[in-house]
Amino acid sequence: MGNKIKFLFNIYSFVEIKIKNEFIEVDVDATQEFYLTQNDILEDCECDDCQYFYKNFIHKPFKILEIIKKFGVDLSENLVDESTGVWCVRNDSHLLHIFQVYQAKGVIHNPQKEIKYSVIEHGLKMEIRLYQSAFNVIDIELTVNKL
Ligand SMILES: [Zn+2]
Repeated sequence: MGNKIKFLFNIYSFVEIKIKNEFIEVDVDATQEFYLTQNDILEDCECDDCQYFYKNFIHKPFKILEIIKKFGVDLSENLVDESTGVWCVRNDSHLLHIFQVYQAKGVIHNPQKEIKYSVIEHGLKMEIRLYQSAFNVIDIELTVNKL
């Protein structure tokens, strides 16, 4: 998962994550610490769709979820800023659409400050869009659509 580089008496511990030949510097420890202060999804919404996302979807071995977890993100949490549950649409228990925003601490180095990556697995198109939303803050938008 790239080299771990430590600076300044371990105050910062950045990990390099590579997506589509683009390197992202991620402070995994700071991201994990940030997630200690966010909301459990089910604290924000207990509807069937949120329960499905929380209890089922995020535990599947999907490649896109493994990538998000590398950043130190807790998939079972909502950002306090967007505490409205997960946007999840199902039809007779078939998954049609998911949209959820996560956040990590780090820096995207390409000039666009944005990286998109998608993967098709189990008849689902799963995409992440990463962008630098503030200093040392990367927003991670997860979108899933049934093909
Ligand atoms: Zn809900």
